[in-house]
This record gives sequence, structure tokens and C-alpha cells, in this order.
Amino acid sequence: MKKIKVFLVLLAVLAVAAFSSCQQVKESAKLETPAPAVITAMKPGVYKQTAKGMYDGLVVEVTLSEKKIEKVAVVEHKETPGIAAGAIETLPGKIVAAQSLSVDLVSGATMTSKGILAAVAQAISAAGGKAEEFKKPGADSTASAAASATSAASAAVDNAALPKKWDMEYDVVVVGGGFAGLSAAHSAATNGAKTVLVEKMPFVGGNSQINGGVYAAYTSKLAADFQKKLNLVPDTADAHIADTMKGGDYMSDIKLVRNMVYGSPFYLNMLLDNGLKVRESLTRPRW
Ligand SMILES: Cc1cc2nc3c(=O)[nH]c(=O)nc-3n(C[C@H](O)[C@H](O)[C@H](O)COP(=O)(O)OP(=O)(O)OC[C@H]3O[C@@H](n4cnc5c(N)ncnc54)[C@H](O)[C@@H]3O)c2cc1C
Repeated sequence: MKKIKVFLVLLAVLAVAAFSSCQQVKESAKLETPAPAVITAMKPGVYKQTAKGMYDGLVVEVTLSEKKIEKVAVVEHKETPGIAAGAIETLPGKIVAAQSLSVDLVSGATMTSKGILAAVAQAISAAGGKAEEFKKPGADSTASAAASATSAASAAVDNAALPKKWDMEYDVVVVGGGFAGLSAAHSAATNGAKTVLVEKMPFVGGNSQINGGVYAAYTSKLAADFQKKLNLVPDTADAHIADTMKGGDYMSDIKLVRNMVYGSPFYLNMLLDNGLKVRESLTRPRW
């Protein structure tokens, strides 16, 4: 329960961090007052357009009034479940809010994002409008504000001393929420470090959430029980190192292999302590 609480605290910290950076972007947006864009009159209506995202068949319904993009909705698609969701759920709203086709793409769902933008551009053309008029720098409050925030931050680092006071401070900042990042953040937080985990995707998990689920460790708190049940002799760290070197055609860095092998029981036990369920089966090496 204590560990779950730690992760909830981490998520709350992430939410605060995300909110705070949004605030900064809004502040710098206020400073820039773009010139009003000239928009060619469009024929109002609902335009259903098909574009290619990661795959063919991304169908987007775009509602246009004479001068505005009123609504964007993805109504059909064959995009990768989960991965594309961030773009499908957030990009339509961003396009409408910014009245722009130059909004930031959703990280990790670039192809889906580009497909949605292409469909909106097609709809504007079909309505007799000009998509380029929605791509002008002034029309994109989100992107220009983010760009100005980034360049302002770079200039500050170049020209000024580091600030005396930071908005937020952490002992440990972990970048990336796959197995490596999650275990690093978990270890740091449970050892008392004030920790934040930043992830570029709208969800954590990385490649780790799609892997085959095979975990090699020469021992663990389950080992003695399995060895007895399956009538196996106990494994050793040396045998694990030798197998790993052979499996990598002797091209692996032996120092890294040793590091992985000696660390493997610790991390398997850590996963078991946090609820990992193991399927009992026997896998034999191919060589
Ligand atoms: C199909 C498949 C099957 C596999 N099967 C196995 C198996 O059975 N056994 C095994 O041991 N291994 C397997 N692997 C390999 C294993 O999944 C990876 O080695 C492991 O998941 C790597 O973990 P990681 O935390 O280092 O990286 P990842 O899980 O990829 O996590 C990296 C995270 O960092 C984030 N990130 C990247 N850049 C940034 C940034 N700039 N800012 C913020 N966040 C960022 C990413 O979005 C991601 O969430 C498999 C891999 C695949 C793809």
C-alpha cells in the first residue's frame, strides 16, 4: 500500500509539473499578440475526409463555418490501439482552440497526428478555403507560445546566472517510464528521495509493456521452489554470464553483462514484492 501511495504521489507531482509548464506557455502567449489572420470565406458545413495516418482509413469529420474550424472529430480509424489514442483524443480540440494546423504533433503518435491535420486541410480546401491561411505563424498560439518559451529559456541559460530559486526541486529526475525508468523512480522514491518521473508519451510503459515477458535471473526468491518442482539443478551467475555471452555471439560487453546478471535477482525480487505474477513453464535455450 505504501508503494502504491508513492506512485500516486509521483503521478500527482507529474500532473503539477504538466500544469505548471502549461501556465508558463500561457503567460508567454499573452506577451505575443499575433496579427489577425486573413481567412478566405468557406462554405459552412460538415466535411467528412479520409486520410492516411499510420494506416489507411483515418476518417475525420470537420465542421466549418465561414471563417472558422468549429469542430474536428475522428469518426473511424485503423490506427494502433493505445498508441494513437493520445492524438485522436487531444489533437482535434487543440486544432479548434488554436484555429491552426500548426499545432504540436502528439509525441509517439506522429503519423496519426499528421493524418488528422491532413484531413482538416482537405476539408478546408473542399469548403473553398485555403489551408495555408491556418498555418501562418500568428494563427498558432500553442506552437508559437511553446517556441517562444523554449527560446526564452535558452536565452536565460545563455545570458544569465542560474536562478536563486527554482519553481520545483527534486533529488532525482527520471526521464522515461519503461521498466528501467519505473524501477529507478521506484527505488529512488522508496529510499526517500524526492523523485519525479517524466514521460514523453501520454502513458507510461514504453517497449516494456509489449515485450514477450521472459525474464532471465540465475536465482530469485522463487528459484528453490521451481528447481525442486521441475527437478533442476540450481543455476549460477557464471552460467548466466556464459549463456548471455554465447547468446550474443560473444559481441556483448562483458562488464555490462556481469552488471545485468548480478542485478537480475534483485530486480526480479523487487517485481515479485510488488505483485508480479509468474507463469510456470520451462524454456530451454536454443543453442
Ligand atoms: C516485441 C518485443 C518483445 C520483447 N521481449 C522481451 C522479452 O521477452 N524479454 C526481455 O528481457 N526483453 C524483451 N524485449 C526487450 C525489452 O522490452 C526492452 O529491453 C525493455 O523494455 C527496455 O526497457 P527500458 O525501460 O530501457 O525502455 P522502454 O520500455 O522502451 O522505455 C523507455 C521510455 O522512455 C520514454 N522516453 C524516450 N525518450 C524520452 C524523452 N526524451 N522524454 C521522456 N520520455 C522519453 C519512452 O516513451 C518510453 O516510455 C522485447 C522488446 C520488444 C519490442
